[in-house]
Amino acid sequence: MPTLQEIASCVSGYDPNALPVAQAQAFIGRLVSGVAATERLPIRSALGRVLAGDIVSPINVPAHDNSAMDGYALRGSDLLVDAPTALDVVGTGFAGDARPGEVLAGQCLRIMTGAVMPAGLDTVVPQEFVTATEGKVSIPPGVVRPGDNRRLAGEDLAVGEAALRDGRVLRPADIGLLASLGQPEVAVRRRLRVAFFSTGDELRSVGEPLAEGCVYDSNRYTLWAMLQRLNVEVLDMGVVRDEPAALEAAFRHAAESADAVITSGGVSVGEADHTRHIMARLGDVLFWRIAMRPGRPMAIGRIESGGRAAILFGLPGNPVAVMVTFYAFVRDALLQMAGATHEPLPMLRAASVKPLRKKPGRTEYQRGIVSRAADGSWQVAITGSQGSGILRSMSEANGLVVLHHEQGDVAAGEAVDVLPFDGLI
Ligand code: AMP
Ligand code: MG
Repeated sequence: MPTLQEIASCVSGYDPNALPVAQAQAFIGRLVSGVAATERLPIRSALGRVLAGDIVSPINVPAHDNSAMDGYALRGSDLLVDAPTALDVVGTGFAGDARPGEVLAGQCLRIMTGAVMPAGLDTVVPQEFVTATEGKVSIPPGVVRPGDNRRLAGEDLAVGEAALRDGRVLRPADIGLLASLGQPEVAVRRRLRVAFFSTGDELRSVGEPLAEGCVYDSNRYTLWAMLQRLNVEVLDMGVVRDEPAALEAAFRHAAESADAVITSGGVSVGEADHTRHIMARLGDVLFWRIAMRPGRPMAIGRIESGGRAAILFGLPGNPVAVMVTFYAFVRDALLQMAGATHEPLPMLRAASVKPLRKKPGRTEYQRGIVSRAADGSWQVAITGSQGSGILRSMSEANGLVVLHHEQGDVAAGEAVDVLPFDGLI
């Protein structure tokens, strides 16, 4: 396992005191690795879980050529191009019937959607196009071409083909696809265990009275909710006082119980020394000042206790900074640890309604409301105050405006990147 210093030496532009977001992400990508353990689950219990191993189709889906319409199955070569085609109807095929017997040239079979095509027949004419009388049909020229309205065996999935790839986070269509292969169970990676706690003597938990100078702990609730969306097992360790012994005990318990530990608070300049001392005993942890806003201070590394280790994400204390650093760094890292293959989140281009001030040399995440302009194109307006303590700005927003590292001021009407919350939060 490489040390943090070794990882840092592989990341270009590594400067712990002014670390660009992209470099921090690259570092974290090298630090974390996927869980190996797997379990087998009934397919309905596997929704949102990470597939372990490729799923290779054991059968052709569909198993036989079959009809895509209610109509008449025939030989394409029997069709006349400039006159009606007259054929004898020799029987009826229903969905679920075994393959019908031979149908000769000049004959056809009344057929229902999903019924197996008789050998040699390759075309279905929908019933609404034909004139049917006493065992015969007449098909006008030009209403059907050879090969129309027939589904081919294996056209959905061919036997031996990889239907789903290792690392796939299973979505509703995938659960149905597993069922279409006749699989009652599927192997998935074990769920990631993530412990989290808040630090700060000023924090009170919901339900407690709020003493003077105190605030309710919201970060533990936001974090819990964001973790639910990632389908990990959570361990809520509550609020930990800013006392070395209490913090050390909490970090030890977390390292012994979880794959990852997320803390909020206690990493800002005034408080980090405290945490640094404990980290020096428990593991290999770096303290960063990231070139971003909000969310500058962050601690990252590995902590160990009782022979067990966990990845530590020490997030800033401010409620908006917690969410932004979670989405900028922790989400991808947890997905990687869960063994999930994932693409970068898709962004929208939207015209900024107003000019935005932005200093090059840091990444800014402003809270925005995306809507349709009169001409149907996307526009985005920044929500009121952007202070990193103002959680309401996240609640009101429906996306994060991402102003990239090199980017400067934005003029009114200029397009910016927006990370929509829909599907994310
Ligand atoms: P810190 O990073 O610990 O210096 O905290 C920065 C700011 O965030 C302070 O105003 C804290 O009171 C506030 N804060 C820290 N943790 C929480 C929390 N769990 N819930 C709400 N506010 C918090
Ligand atoms: Mg604090």
